[in-house]
Amino acid sequence: MKIEEVKSTSKTQRIASHSHIKGLGLDETGLAKPVAAGLVGQEKAREAAGIIVELIKSRKMAGRAVLLAGPPGTGKTALALAVAHELGPKVPFCPMVGSEVYSTEVKKTEVLMENFRRAIGLRIKETKEVYEGEVIELTPHETENPTGGYGKTVSHVVIGLKTAKGTKQLKLDPSIYESLLKEKVEPGDVIYIEANSGAVKRQGRCDAFATEFDLEAEEYVPLPKGDVHKKKEVIQDVTLHDLDVANARPHGGQDVLSIMGQLMKPKKTEITDKLRREINKVVNKYIDQGIAELVPGVLFIDEVHMLDIECFTYLHRALESSLSPIVVFATNRGRCLIRGTKDIISPHGMPLDLLDRVMIIRTFPYLKQEMIQILKIRSQTEEINCDSESLEYLGEIGSQTTLRYAVQLLTPSHLLSRINGHENIQRNDVEEINKLFYDAKSSAKILAAQNDKYMK
Ligand code: ATP
Repeated sequence: MKIEEVKSTSKTQRIASHSHIKGLGLDETGLAKPVAAGLVGQEKAREAAGIIVELIKSRKMAGRAVLLAGPPGTGKTALALAVAHELGPKVPFCPMVGSEVYSTEVKKTEVLMENFRRAIGLRIKETKEVYEGEVIELTPHETENPTGGYGKTVSHVVIGLKTAKGTKQLKLDPSIYESLLKEKVEPGDVIYIEANSGAVKRQGRCDAFATEFDLEAEEYVPLPKGDVHKKKEVIQDVTLHDLDVANARPHGGQDVLSIMGQLMKPKKTEITDKLRREINKVVNKYIDQGIAELVPGVLFIDEVHMLDIECFTYLHRALESSLSPIVVFATNRGRCLIRGTKDIISPHGMPLDLLDRVMIIRTFPYLKQEMIQILKIRSQTEEINCDSESLEYLGEIGSQTTLRYAVQLLTPSHLLSRINGHENIQRNDVEEINKLFYDAKSSAKILAAQNDKYMK
Protein backbone atom coordinates (compact mmCIF):
# COMPACT_ATOMS: atom_id res chain seq x y z
CA MET A 1 0.00 0.00 0.00
CA LYS A 2 1.14 3.52 -0.68
CA ILE A 3 0.08 6.51 1.30
CA GLU A 4 0.72 9.43 -0.95
CA GLU A 5 -0.71 12.49 -2.46
CA VAL A 6 -3.32 12.12 -5.16
CA LYS A 7 -3.87 15.19 -7.29
CA SER A 8 -6.25 15.77 -10.08
CA THR A 9 -4.54 16.56 -13.34
CA SER A 10 -7.68 17.40 -15.26
CA LYS A 11 -11.10 18.92 -14.95
CA THR A 12 -12.64 15.54 -14.38
CA GLN A 13 -16.30 16.39 -14.49
CA ARG A 14 -16.00 17.81 -17.99
CA ILE A 15 -14.25 14.84 -19.46
CA ALA A 16 -16.46 12.25 -17.75
CA SER A 17 -18.53 11.82 -20.90
CA HIS A 18 -15.36 10.92 -22.81
CA SER A 19 -14.13 8.27 -20.37
CA HIS A 20 -14.38 5.55 -23.02
CA ILE A 21 -11.68 7.23 -25.15
CA LYS A 22 -8.32 5.54 -24.60
CA GLY A 23 -6.31 6.68 -27.61
CA LEU A 24 -6.49 7.32 -31.34
CA GLY A 25 -6.88 3.65 -32.29
CA LEU A 26 -4.32 3.65 -35.13
CA ASP A 27 -2.39 0.65 -36.44
CA GLU A 28 1.43 0.48 -36.69
CA THR A 29 1.39 2.25 -40.05
CA GLY A 30 -0.67 5.12 -38.66
CA LEU A 31 -3.94 4.12 -40.32
CA ALA A 32 -7.15 4.36 -38.30
CA LYS A 33 -8.84 1.10 -37.35
CA PRO A 34 -12.62 1.51 -37.86
CA VAL A 35 -13.37 1.00 -34.17
CA ALA A 36 -10.50 1.09 -31.68
CA ALA A 37 -9.41 2.63 -28.38
CA GLY A 38 -13.01 3.77 -27.86
CA LEU A 39 -13.07 5.79 -31.10
CA VAL A 40 -15.39 5.13 -34.01
CA GLY A 41 -15.08 6.46 -37.58
CA GLN A 42 -13.66 9.96 -38.20
CA GLU A 43 -10.69 8.13 -39.75
CA LYS A 44 -9.02 11.01 -41.61
CA ALA A 45 -9.06 13.26 -38.53
CA ARG A 46 -7.67 10.46 -36.36
CA GLU A 47 -4.85 9.78 -38.82
CA ALA A 48 -4.02 13.50 -38.98
CA ALA A 49 -4.05 13.61 -35.18
CA GLY A 50 -1.65 10.65 -35.22
CA ILE A 51 0.80 12.70 -37.27
CA ILE A 52 0.47 15.56 -34.77
CA VAL A 53 1.35 13.11 -31.98
CA GLU A 54 4.46 12.08 -33.91
CA LEU A 55 5.42 15.73 -34.42
CA ILE A 56 4.98 16.42 -30.71
CA LYS A 57 7.03 13.38 -29.74
CA SER A 58 9.84 14.39 -32.08
CA ARG A 59 9.66 17.94 -30.66
CA LYS A 60 8.68 19.54 -33.94
CA MET A 61 5.49 21.22 -32.73
CA ALA A 62 7.04 24.04 -30.72
CA GLY A 63 5.26 27.34 -31.31
CA ARG A 64 2.53 25.64 -33.34
CA ALA A 65 -1.01 24.65 -32.47
CA VAL A 66 -3.84 22.49 -33.83
CA LEU A 67 -7.30 23.60 -34.92
CA LEU A 68 -10.14 21.10 -35.15
CA ALA A 69 -12.79 22.51 -37.44
CA GLY A 70 -16.13 20.81 -37.83
CA PRO A 71 -19.82 20.84 -36.93
CA PRO A 72 -20.92 20.43 -33.30
CA GLY A 73 -20.96 16.89 -32.04
CA THR A 74 -18.30 15.51 -34.35
CA GLY A 75 -15.96 14.39 -31.62
CA LYS A 76 -13.54 17.32 -31.41
CA THR A 77 -13.13 17.05 -27.66
CA ALA A 78 -12.89 13.28 -27.96
CA LEU A 79 -10.04 13.62 -30.49
CA ALA A 80 -8.11 16.13 -28.38
CA LEU A 81 -8.40 13.81 -25.38
CA ALA A 82 -7.21 10.89 -27.51
CA VAL A 83 -4.10 12.91 -28.45
CA ALA A 84 -3.35 13.44 -24.74
CA HIS A 85 -3.71 9.69 -24.14
CA GLU A 86 -1.35 8.91 -27.02
CA LEU A 87 1.29 11.19 -25.52
CA GLY A 88 1.59 8.90 -22.51
CA PRO A 89 0.07 8.00 -19.18
CA LYS A 90 -0.79 10.85 -16.81
CA VAL A 91 -0.39 13.51 -19.48
CA PRO A 92 -2.61 16.40 -18.37
CA PHE A 93 -5.67 17.26 -20.43
CA CYS A 94 -7.35 20.56 -19.72
CA PRO A 95 -10.54 21.37 -21.58
CA MET A 96 -12.01 24.88 -21.63
CA VAL A 97 -14.51 26.87 -23.66
CA GLY A 98 -13.59 30.22 -25.24
CA SER A 99 -16.38 32.04 -23.44
CA GLU A 100 -14.91 31.00 -20.06
CA VAL A 101 -12.47 33.92 -20.23
CA TYR A 102 -15.21 36.48 -19.73
CA SER A 103 -15.80 37.12 -16.07
CA THR A 104 -16.33 40.23 -14.01
CA GLU A 105 -13.85 39.11 -11.36
CA VAL A 106 -10.89 37.60 -13.17
CA LYS A 107 -8.88 39.06 -16.04
CA LYS A 108 -9.19 37.25 -19.38
CA THR A 109 -5.46 36.60 -19.55
CA GLU A 110 -5.49 35.23 -16.00
CA VAL A 111 -8.11 32.63 -16.98
CA LEU A 112 -6.00 31.66 -19.97
CA MET A 113 -2.83 31.48 -17.93
CA GLU A 114 -4.46 29.30 -15.27
CA ASN A 115 -5.65 26.85 -17.90
CA PHE A 116 -2.24 26.86 -19.55
CA ARG A 117 -0.71 25.81 -16.25
CA ARG A 118 -3.34 23.16 -15.65
CA ALA A 119 -2.18 21.59 -18.91
CA ILE A 120 1.51 21.43 -17.99
CA GLY A 121 2.50 18.48 -15.86
CA LEU A 122 5.56 17.91 -13.77
CA ARG A 123 6.74 14.44 -12.84
CA ILE A 124 8.75 14.67 -9.67
CA LYS A 125 11.04 11.82 -8.77
CA GLU A 126 12.10 11.45 -5.21
CA THR A 127 14.08 8.76 -3.52
CA LYS A 128 12.64 8.27 -0.10
CA GLU A 129 13.89 6.30 2.81
CA VAL A 130 11.12 4.02 3.81
CA TYR A 131 10.32 1.34 6.29
CA GLU A 132 8.86 -1.44 4.29
CA GLY A 133 7.37 -4.45 5.92
CA GLU A 134 4.54 -6.84 6.34
CA VAL A 135 1.81 -5.84 8.75
CA ILE A 136 1.53 -8.39 11.54
CA GLU A 137 -0.64 -6.39 13.88
CA LEU A 138 -2.92 -3.42 13.46
CA THR A 139 -4.51 -2.28 16.69
CA PRO A 140 -6.35 0.97 17.19
CA HIS A 141 -6.17 2.24 20.77
CA GLU A 142 -9.10 4.19 22.07
CA THR A 143 -9.39 6.83 24.75
CA GLU A 144 -12.34 8.65 26.21
CA ASN A 145 -13.40 11.54 24.05
CA PRO A 146 -11.00 14.34 25.08
CA THR A 147 -13.61 17.03 24.55
CA GLY A 148 -15.67 15.46 27.32
CA GLY A 149 -18.36 14.26 24.98
CA TYR A 150 -19.73 10.77 24.82
CA GLY A 151 -17.98 7.94 23.06
CA LYS A 152 -14.38 7.12 22.48
CA THR A 153 -11.84 8.30 19.95
CA VAL A 154 -8.85 6.55 18.49
CA SER A 155 -5.73 7.96 20.16
CA HIS A 156 -3.20 6.03 18.15
CA VAL A 157 -2.71 2.91 16.10
CA VAL A 158 -0.05 0.35 16.79
CA ILE A 159 1.23 -1.63 13.89
CA GLY A 160 3.65 -4.46 14.05
CA LEU A 161 5.82 -4.48 10.98
CA LYS A 162 8.00 -7.40 9.89
CA THR A 163 10.88 -5.73 8.08
CA ALA A 164 14.10 -7.06 6.58
CA LYS A 165 15.86 -6.15 9.83
CA GLY A 166 13.41 -7.73 12.18
CA THR A 167 10.10 -6.86 13.72
CA LYS A 168 9.26 -3.29 14.56
CA GLN A 169 6.44 -1.91 16.55
CA LEU A 170 5.28 1.45 15.29
CA LYS A 171 2.85 3.84 16.81
CA LEU A 172 0.96 5.90 14.29
CA ASP A 173 -0.97 9.09 14.63
CA PRO A 174 -4.75 8.46 14.66
CA SER A 175 -5.29 10.51 11.53
CA ILE A 176 -3.54 7.80 9.57
CA TYR A 177 -6.02 5.23 10.81
CA GLU A 178 -8.69 6.43 8.41
CA SER A 179 -6.37 6.02 5.43
CA LEU A 180 -5.39 2.56 6.61
CA LEU A 181 -9.07 1.65 6.85
CA LYS A 182 -9.83 3.22 3.49
CA GLU A 183 -7.02 1.27 1.89
CA LYS A 184 -8.35 -1.85 3.64
CA VAL A 185 -4.94 -2.63 5.11
CA GLU A 186 -4.90 -5.96 6.90
CA PRO A 187 -2.28 -8.13 8.55
CA GLY A 188 -0.28 -9.76 5.78
CA ASP A 189 -0.22 -6.64 3.58
CA VAL A 190 3.08 -5.01 2.73
CA ILE A 191 3.15 -1.26 3.36
CA TYR A 192 5.77 1.43 3.61
CA ILE A 193 6.23 4.38 5.85
CA GLU A 194 8.60 7.27 5.17
CA ALA A 195 11.55 7.10 7.47
CA ASN A 196 13.58 10.28 7.11
CA SER A 197 11.25 12.57 8.99
CA GLY A 198 9.32 9.92 10.81
CA ALA A 199 6.29 11.31 9.06
CA VAL A 200 3.63 9.42 7.24
CA LYS A 201 2.57 11.40 4.27
CA ARG A 202 -1.08 11.86 3.74
CA GLN A 203 -2.96 14.20 1.42
CA GLY A 204 0.07 16.34 0.76
CA ARG A 205 0.55 17.31 4.38
CA CYS A 206 2.71 15.69 6.97
CA ASP A 207 0.07 15.50 9.58
CA ALA A 208 0.61 12.03 10.86
CA PHE A 209 3.70 10.93 12.69
CA ALA A 210 5.06 7.48 13.09
CA THR A 211 7.09 6.57 16.15
CA GLU A 212 8.95 3.43 16.95
CA PHE A 213 8.86 1.61 20.28
CA ASP A 214 12.27 1.87 21.88
CA LEU A 215 12.74 -1.22 24.06
CA GLU A 216 15.38 0.33 26.32
CA ALA A 217 13.63 3.60 26.96
CA GLU A 218 10.30 1.80 27.02
CA GLU A 219 8.68 4.55 25.06
CA TYR A 220 7.88 5.55 21.56
CA VAL A 221 10.50 7.67 19.80
CA PRO A 222 10.47 9.21 16.30
CA LEU A 223 11.62 6.83 13.60
CA PRO A 224 15.39 7.29 13.56
CA LYS A 225 16.89 8.88 10.49
CA GLY A 226 19.43 6.78 8.70
CA ASP A 227 18.00 3.52 9.99
CA VAL A 228 16.96 2.82 6.50
CA HIS A 229 15.43 -0.40 5.40
CA LYS A 230 14.85 0.44 1.83
CA LYS A 231 15.12 3.29 -0.63
CA LYS A 232 12.14 3.72 -2.76
CA GLU A 233 11.60 5.90 -5.80
CA VAL A 234 8.37 7.77 -5.45
CA ILE A 235 6.91 9.54 -8.45
CA GLN A 236 4.39 12.28 -8.09
CA ASP A 237 2.49 13.82 -10.96
CA VAL A 238 1.36 17.39 -10.47
CA THR A 239 0.53 20.29 -12.73
CA LEU A 240 2.07 23.75 -12.58
CA HIS A 241 -1.35 24.94 -11.46
CA ASP A 242 -1.24 22.49 -8.52
CA LEU A 243 2.09 24.06 -7.53
CA ASP A 244 0.65 27.58 -7.87
CA VAL A 245 -2.21 26.64 -5.56
CA ALA A 246 0.08 24.84 -3.10
CA ASN A 247 2.35 27.87 -2.89
CA ALA A 248 -0.52 30.23 -2.38
CA ARG A 249 -1.49 28.16 0.66
CA PRO A 250 1.74 26.91 2.16
CA HIS A 251 1.89 24.03 4.60
CA GLY A 252 4.52 21.96 6.36
CA GLY A 253 6.53 18.97 5.27
CA GLN A 254 10.01 17.87 4.32
CA ASP A 255 9.66 16.40 0.86
CA VAL A 256 10.30 18.18 -2.41
CA LEU A 257 6.67 19.00 -3.06
CA SER A 258 6.07 20.48 0.35
CA ILE A 259 9.29 22.45 0.18
CA MET A 260 8.34 23.68 -3.26
CA GLY A 261 5.07 24.65 -1.65
CA GLN A 262 6.87 26.85 0.85
CA LEU A 263 9.21 28.74 -1.41
CA MET A 264 7.93 32.21 -0.85
CA LYS A 265 5.77 32.05 2.23
CA PRO A 266 3.41 34.60 0.69
CA LYS A 267 1.18 36.48 3.03
CA LYS A 268 -1.68 36.53 0.62
CA THR A 269 -3.36 33.45 -0.75
CA GLU A 270 -3.39 34.82 -4.26
CA ILE A 271 -1.62 33.43 -7.29
CA THR A 272 0.36 36.34 -8.69
CA ASP A 273 2.61 36.66 -11.72
CA LYS A 274 5.57 37.04 -9.39
CA LEU A 275 4.70 33.79 -7.62
CA ARG A 276 4.43 32.02 -10.94
CA ARG A 277 7.79 33.39 -12.08
CA GLU A 278 9.42 32.14 -8.88
CA ILE A 279 7.81 28.74 -9.31
CA ASN A 280 9.05 28.53 -12.90
CA LYS A 281 12.55 29.32 -11.68
CA VAL A 282 12.50 26.50 -9.13
CA VAL A 283 10.84 24.12 -11.57
CA ASN A 284 13.57 24.83 -14.12
CA LYS A 285 16.21 24.22 -11.47
CA TYR A 286 14.66 20.86 -10.56
CA ILE A 287 14.47 19.95 -14.22
CA ASP A 288 18.17 20.78 -14.67
CA GLN A 289 19.02 18.67 -11.63
CA GLY A 290 17.05 15.75 -13.00
CA ILE A 291 14.65 15.68 -10.05
CA ALA A 292 11.70 16.69 -12.14
CA GLU A 293 10.61 16.14 -15.70
CA LEU A 294 8.28 18.38 -17.65
CA VAL A 295 5.18 16.69 -19.09
CA PRO A 296 3.51 19.10 -21.52
CA GLY A 297 -0.15 18.15 -21.79
CA VAL A 298 -3.00 19.23 -24.01
CA LEU A 299 -4.95 22.45 -23.55
CA PHE A 300 -8.22 22.16 -25.46
CA ILE A 301 -9.99 25.45 -26.22
CA ASP A 302 -13.43 24.80 -27.64
CA GLU A 303 -15.38 27.57 -29.43
CA VAL A 304 -12.18 29.47 -30.06
CA HIS A 305 -14.11 32.11 -32.05
CA MET A 306 -15.45 33.33 -28.68
CA LEU A 307 -11.97 34.61 -27.74
CA ASP A 308 -11.17 38.23 -28.57
CA ILE A 309 -8.16 39.90 -30.14
CA GLU A 310 -6.57 40.55 -26.75
CA CYS A 311 -6.73 36.84 -25.89
CA PHE A 312 -5.33 35.88 -29.27
CA THR A 313 -2.36 38.22 -28.84
CA TYR A 314 -1.72 36.73 -25.42
CA LEU A 315 -2.05 33.14 -26.71
CA HIS A 316 0.29 33.83 -29.57
CA ARG A 317 2.98 34.88 -27.13
CA ALA A 318 2.27 32.08 -24.66
CA LEU A 319 2.65 29.48 -27.42
CA GLU A 320 6.26 30.52 -27.83
CA SER A 321 7.15 30.03 -24.19
CA SER A 322 9.30 27.03 -23.28
CA LEU A 323 6.67 26.08 -20.71
CA SER A 324 3.80 25.63 -23.15
CA PRO A 325 1.35 22.77 -23.51
CA ILE A 326 0.07 21.56 -26.88
CA VAL A 327 -2.83 23.85 -27.66
CA VAL A 328 -5.76 22.36 -29.57
CA PHE A 329 -8.40 24.86 -30.69
CA ALA A 330 -11.83 23.85 -31.92
CA THR A 331 -14.55 25.71 -33.74
CA ASN A 332 -17.63 25.12 -35.82
CA ARG A 333 -17.50 28.56 -37.46
CA GLY A 334 -16.37 29.47 -40.94
CA ARG A 335 -15.49 33.08 -41.73
CA CYS A 336 -16.58 35.42 -38.99
CA LEU A 337 -15.70 38.62 -37.16
CA ILE A 338 -12.73 38.51 -34.81
CA ARG A 339 -14.17 39.54 -31.46
CA GLY A 340 -12.82 42.79 -30.09
CA THR A 341 -12.29 44.22 -33.58
CA LYS A 342 -14.80 46.33 -35.47
CA ASP A 343 -14.56 44.83 -38.91
CA ILE A 344 -11.86 42.19 -39.24
CA ILE A 345 -13.47 39.13 -40.78
CA SER A 346 -11.25 36.08 -40.74
CA PRO A 347 -11.53 32.29 -41.19
CA HIS A 348 -12.78 30.73 -37.92
CA GLY A 349 -12.72 34.18 -36.28
CA MET A 350 -8.97 33.84 -35.64
CA PRO A 351 -6.29 36.40 -36.57
CA LEU A 352 -4.32 35.41 -39.66
CA ASP A 353 -0.94 35.46 -37.96
CA LEU A 354 -2.15 32.90 -35.42
CA LEU A 355 -3.87 30.85 -38.14
CA ASP A 356 -0.48 30.72 -39.82
CA ARG A 357 0.88 28.73 -36.90
CA VAL A 358 -2.04 26.35 -36.79
CA MET A 359 -2.44 22.92 -38.38
CA ILE A 360 -6.08 22.44 -39.28
CA ILE A 361 -7.87 19.11 -39.01
CA ARG A 362 -11.45 18.82 -40.22
CA THR A 363 -14.09 16.65 -38.60
CA PHE A 364 -17.23 15.49 -40.41
CA PRO A 365 -20.74 14.46 -39.31
CA TYR A 366 -21.18 10.80 -38.45
CA LEU A 367 -23.18 8.23 -40.34
CA LYS A 368 -26.10 6.74 -38.45
CA GLN A 369 -24.31 3.39 -38.08
CA GLU A 370 -21.30 5.14 -36.54
CA MET A 371 -23.54 6.94 -34.08
CA ILE A 372 -25.14 3.64 -33.09
CA GLN A 373 -21.68 2.20 -32.52
CA ILE A 374 -20.67 5.19 -30.35
CA LEU A 375 -23.93 4.99 -28.39
CA LYS A 376 -23.28 1.31 -27.80
CA ILE A 377 -19.77 2.00 -26.44
CA ARG A 378 -21.12 4.80 -24.24
CA SER A 379 -23.91 2.64 -22.83
CA GLN A 380 -21.41 -0.11 -22.02
CA THR A 381 -19.14 2.39 -20.27
CA GLU A 382 -22.04 3.71 -18.23
CA GLU A 383 -23.15 0.13 -17.53
CA ILE A 384 -26.52 0.75 -19.11
CA ASN A 385 -28.22 -2.09 -20.94
CA CYS A 386 -29.83 -1.00 -24.16
CA ASP A 387 -31.65 -3.34 -26.54
CA SER A 388 -30.76 -3.12 -30.24
CA GLU A 389 -34.08 -1.55 -31.19
CA SER A 390 -33.59 1.37 -28.82
CA LEU A 391 -29.95 1.80 -29.93
CA GLU A 392 -31.18 1.97 -33.51
CA TYR A 393 -33.80 4.53 -32.49
CA LEU A 394 -31.23 6.61 -30.55
CA GLY A 395 -29.03 6.52 -33.66
CA GLU A 396 -31.93 7.87 -35.68
CA ILE A 397 -32.47 10.67 -33.17
CA GLY A 398 -28.73 11.41 -33.30
CA SER A 399 -28.69 11.74 -37.07
CA GLN A 400 -31.64 14.13 -36.97
CA THR A 401 -30.22 16.19 -34.10
CA THR A 402 -26.67 15.78 -32.78
CA LEU A 403 -24.68 12.89 -31.39
CA ARG A 404 -24.29 14.71 -28.11
CA TYR A 405 -28.05 15.02 -27.71
CA ALA A 406 -28.54 11.32 -28.37
CA VAL A 407 -25.77 10.37 -25.90
CA GLN A 408 -27.37 12.61 -23.29
CA LEU A 409 -30.65 10.69 -23.58
CA LEU A 410 -28.99 7.49 -22.33
CA THR A 411 -29.02 8.23 -18.60
CA PRO A 412 -32.58 9.62 -18.32
CA SER A 413 -33.86 6.76 -20.50
CA HIS A 414 -32.14 4.33 -18.16
CA LEU A 415 -33.79 5.94 -15.13
CA LEU A 416 -37.17 5.76 -16.82
CA SER A 417 -36.68 2.13 -17.80
CA ARG A 418 -36.10 1.29 -14.15
CA ILE A 419 -39.20 3.21 -13.12
CA ASN A 420 -41.08 1.26 -15.79
CA GLY A 421 -39.86 -1.90 -14.15
CA HIS A 422 -37.28 -3.25 -16.56
CA GLU A 423 -33.47 -3.32 -16.55
CA ASN A 424 -32.89 -2.78 -20.28
CA ILE A 425 -33.69 0.47 -22.03
CA GLN A 426 -36.52 -0.20 -24.47
CA ARG A 427 -37.59 1.88 -27.43
CA ASN A 428 -40.66 3.29 -25.66
CA ASP A 429 -38.45 4.60 -22.77
CA VAL A 430 -36.39 6.56 -25.29
CA GLU A 431 -39.54 7.79 -27.05
CA GLU A 432 -41.01 9.02 -23.79
CA ILE A 433 -37.79 10.83 -22.77
CA ASN A 434 -37.34 12.29 -26.23
CA LYS A 435 -40.80 13.85 -25.96
CA LEU A 436 -39.88 15.52 -22.66
CA PHE A 437 -36.66 17.17 -23.82
CA TYR A 438 -35.73 19.26 -26.81
CA ASP A 439 -32.55 19.28 -28.75
CA ALA A 440 -31.14 22.70 -29.59
CA LYS A 441 -32.41 22.75 -33.19
CA SER A 442 -36.06 21.93 -32.46
CA SER A 443 -36.03 24.25 -29.46
CA ALA A 444 -34.82 27.07 -31.73
CA LYS A 445 -37.50 26.20 -34.28
CA ILE A 446 -40.23 26.45 -31.63
CA LEU A 447 -38.80 29.74 -30.39
CA ALA A 448 -38.83 31.14 -33.91
CA ALA A 449 -42.38 29.94 -34.60
CA GLN A 450 -43.72 31.35 -31.35
CA ASN A 451 -41.55 34.43 -31.33
CA ASP A 452 -44.40 36.78 -30.39
CA LYS A 453 -45.19 34.84 -27.20
CA TYR A 454 -41.78 35.40 -25.57
CA MET A 455 -40.57 38.47 -23.69
CA LYS A 456 -38.25 40.66 -25.69
P1 ATP B 1 -17.63 18.64 -30.36
O1 ATP B 1 -16.49 19.20 -29.56
O2 ATP B 1 -17.32 18.31 -31.76
O3 ATP B 1 -18.89 19.43 -30.21
P2 ATP B 1 -17.46 16.64 -28.41
O4 ATP B 1 -16.31 15.76 -28.60
O5 ATP B 1 -17.38 17.64 -27.37
O6 ATP B 1 -17.90 17.25 -29.79
P3 ATP B 1 -19.60 15.08 -29.06
O7 ATP B 1 -18.99 14.94 -30.37
O8 ATP B 1 -20.87 15.80 -28.91
O9 ATP B 1 -18.63 15.74 -28.04
O10 ATP B 1 -19.66 13.66 -28.51
C1 ATP B 1 -20.70 13.17 -27.73
C2 ATP B 1 -20.20 11.89 -27.13
O11 ATP B 1 -19.78 11.00 -28.16
C3 ATP B 1 -19.04 12.04 -26.21
O12 ATP B 1 -19.22 11.11 -25.18
C4 ATP B 1 -17.86 11.68 -27.09
O13 ATP B 1 -16.80 11.16 -26.31
C5 ATP B 1 -18.43 10.64 -27.99
N1 ATP B 1 -17.76 10.62 -29.28
C6 ATP B 1 -17.70 11.60 -30.19
N2 ATP B 1 -17.04 11.19 -31.29
C7 ATP B 1 -16.67 9.93 -31.06
C8 ATP B 1 -15.98 8.96 -31.83
N3 ATP B 1 -15.51 9.21 -33.04
N4 ATP B 1 -15.81 7.74 -31.29
C9 ATP B 1 -16.28 7.45 -30.07
N5 ATP B 1 -16.93 8.32 -29.31
C10 ATP B 1 -17.14 9.54 -29.79
